[in-house]
Amino acid sequence: MAYDFDLFVIGAGSGGVRAARFAAGFGAKVAVAESRYLGGTCVNVGCVPKKLLVYGAHVADELEQAAGFGWTLEEGHFDWGTLIANKNREIERLNGIYRNLLVNSGVTLLQGHARLTGANEVDVDGQRYTAEHILIATGGWPQVPDIPGKELAITSNEAFYLKALPRRVLVVGGGYIAVEFAGIFQGLGADTTLLYRGDLFLRGFDGSVRTHLKEELEKRGLDLQFNADIQRIDKLDDGSLKATLKDGRELVADCVFYATGRRPMLDNLGLENTGVELDARGYIRVDDQYQTTAPSILAIGDVIGRVQLTPVALAEGMAVARRLFKPEQYRPVDYQSIPTAVFSQPPIGTVGLTEEQALEAGHKVQIFESRFRAMKLTLTDIQEKTLMKLVVDAETDKVLGCHMVGPDAGEIVQGLGIALKAGATKQQFDETIGVHPTAAEEFVTMRTVTR
Ligand code: FAD
Ligand code: NDP
Repeated sequence: MAYDFDLFVIGAGSGGVRAARFAAGFGAKVAVAESRYLGGTCVNVGCVPKKLLVYGAHVADELEQAAGFGWTLEEGHFDWGTLIANKNREIERLNGIYRNLLVNSGVTLLQGHARLTGANEVDVDGQRYTAEHILIATGGWPQVPDIPGKELAITSNEAFYLKALPRRVLVVGGGYIAVEFAGIFQGLGADTTLLYRGDLFLRGFDGSVRTHLKEELEKRGLDLQFNADIQRIDKLDDGSLKATLKDGRELVADCVFYATGRRPMLDNLGLENTGVELDARGYIRVDDQYQTTAPSILAIGDVIGRVQLTPVALAEGMAVARRLFKPEQYRPVDYQSIPTAVFSQPPIGTVGLTEEQALEAGHKVQIFESRFRAMKLTLTDIQEKTLMKLVVDAETDKVLGCHMVGPDAGEIVQGLGIALKAGATKQQFDETIGVHPTAAEEFVTMRTVTR
């Protein structure tokens, strides 16, 4: 049967654009349907605008440090509207770049909501298209627990377009987004409280990292409340919001920001017209080559719920394009030792196993841990400490994990990711000459086993 396209991609986000561009580059006839915004979550309401706001919040640190270096500044004033307008302009520029990337690769770009009407058929706002392969790359969407007053809360989607910086913010959640946005709101001057339902936030990260970040955030005056969860939200007469916690306490704020995870975006996708099944968590079930339970349909990125990070969606998109149209270049995605950063203030950078994971996996571990005041702060009164930690296999000497909390942690951990992928040993770390004077050199100069 002759199809309209070799590959039809639903969703022009990180994964979809990568798969579409490379498939077209390999000679395939490709279409992409996008209902909302080119570049997807990452470009529009994720990584990129988030990082721009983090940079904005970080300016407060630089201003605070300036006096130590002899600078006298007049009292600064922050304008949220300017930051958001400039951020929006940059996002529009990126939307244009994504459009050009697709069109210049020969991809047919369809603006509209795509719905599967069969194993090889997609409807985009009333127009039907057939394709030999269909790739679902529809990403995710914020999930807010079903509590009374949930409609009064906002999520990251709305936070990027707030008209004004709220004076008092309650951030709910203890994952990446909660911690990053707590830092943004507080850094820009809002009175910020983070509420997390468990004992300590950032479950799954290394224990030393979680404790260290907690201490540093508290030093900065962020109000961290653990074992705290909201039962209901009510609007008060003056327009502010009252959150009643499960323990009966009441907190009043101007904004309640929920970052309690994301669900796969499957709304009106028409999966019922196909043999595509979901896994127990509600994400699209795929095999190790991203094929769903319907042989002509594949899925990648946040919608399969493996690792919800842009570089992972990109790698999966690349793998699919190669598998379908350049099989001789196909290589499976390596999910081991994915480096990642949490752009909190200060940020976290991490790659490889946490101490807890290493022990659980049966490794006999040696821990090297260092806490120090960064050189840049020595001329200031700021008492922030940087944490660096190596988890080493005591038997093989292999470095299993590198963890950091401190300035530029994300930048530093990228290089360490290559070392871990290459299987570096602690001895090779020790034999690597440091770059002096940097904080990063601590990773190659830690000699004393902490435990
Ligand atoms: P998406 O990028 O979400 O793209 C899916 C696209 O499909 C969307 O454009 C959507 O409009 C479209 N779509 C959905 N349904 C349909 C339909 N039926 N028809 C047509 N189009 C449809 N990751 C990092 O690595 N680093 C970070 O710093 C980072 N920060 C983040 C900050 C926030 C606030 C959030 C929310 C996420 C962040 N992420 C970060 C995660 C990252 O954004 C995602 O992992 C990544 O975007 C997933 O890519 P994707 O291709 O799976 O989906
Ligand atoms: P996460 O899954 O990281 O965190 C969700 C948090 O919400 C957890 O602390 C969880 O608690 C808590 N939670 C879940 N359900 C409830 C509930 N019903 N009531 C109260 N608390 C609840 O999700 P995020 O929304 O922070 O981010 C989504 C994903 O996006 C991340 O996992 C990450 O993959 C990606 N991302 C990456 C970034 C980066 O690379 N820098 C930045 C932002 C997002 P518990 O731990 O107890 O389950």
